[in-house]
Formats: sequence, structure tokens, C-alpha cells
Amino acid sequence: MTTEDEYLDSLKRARKNLPAHVFEKSRFQIPKAEVFREGNKTFITDWNRILKVLNRESDADHLAKHLAREFATSSTEDRGRLLLQGKFSRGLINRELESYVKDFVLCEECEKPDTKLVKEGRILIKVCEACGARGAVK
Ligand SMILES: [Zn+2]
Repeated sequence: MTTEDEYLDSLKRARKNLPAHVFEKSRFQIPKAEVFREGNKTFITDWNRILKVLNRESDADHLAKHLAREFATSSTEDRGRLLLQGKFSRGLINRELESYVKDFVLCEECEKPDTKLVKEGRILIKVCEACGARGAVK
């Protein structure tokens, strides 16, 4: 056994001994959108699935408008898909989706996605249903 092997082995052992909850935070995976382009239109074909994973089925408009604004275009929900006017790559859309999830979905305290957006006056508040944290979002 080389020193490197021993080192890797000890890492593996250390990881095994950690309690399960240490890994819990990384369990939530930001969903990757399926994208279909046709002419000058871009569709997110699994829009409904994404809303479900993000717990945003009742707040779909906020995400749709956010994406439209980021891409300086308009968006329409169309039979379970989101239509964006213009040509956008899957990579670009998923980058925007990821930044949206970080800003508007994941709790800043516990990093869980169990949040909802609540309007208080003109301020939008992200409320975490897992830990109770509240914070204004931009
Ligand atoms: Zn939380």
C-alpha cells in the first residue's frame, strides 16, 4: 500500500463514520430543464415537473417572468411547457434556473428547498417551511 492509498483509505473510513444528516444538505438536486427549440422559439418541455420539484406549482408565474426578464423576452405557459420567444440554449436556461433556485427557492439558513414566497406589501419574503427562516428577496 502506498501512502496515497492509505490516505484515500482513511478518507473513506472517515466519511463512513459521519452521521447521515451531514450529507442531507446535498440531497436536493437543482432540476435540469429539458429544452426544445423550434425556429425562433424555445420550449422548456418539462416545465410542470420543474415546478413540482421546486414546490412552485402555485407560483409558476414568478419563475416564468424571471426567466423572461433575464432573457429580455416574453414567456407563455403552454400545455405544461414554457415557451420563451427567441433561441436559448439548454445550458443558458439551466444556468438561469440554477441562479433562480439559489435566490428564490433554497433557504438561506438550512439550504432546503421547502420554501414559499409571500408578499408583504411591496416586499417579497421567502419563508422556509422546514426551519421557519424568513428573509426578503430582491
Ligand atoms: Zn430553512
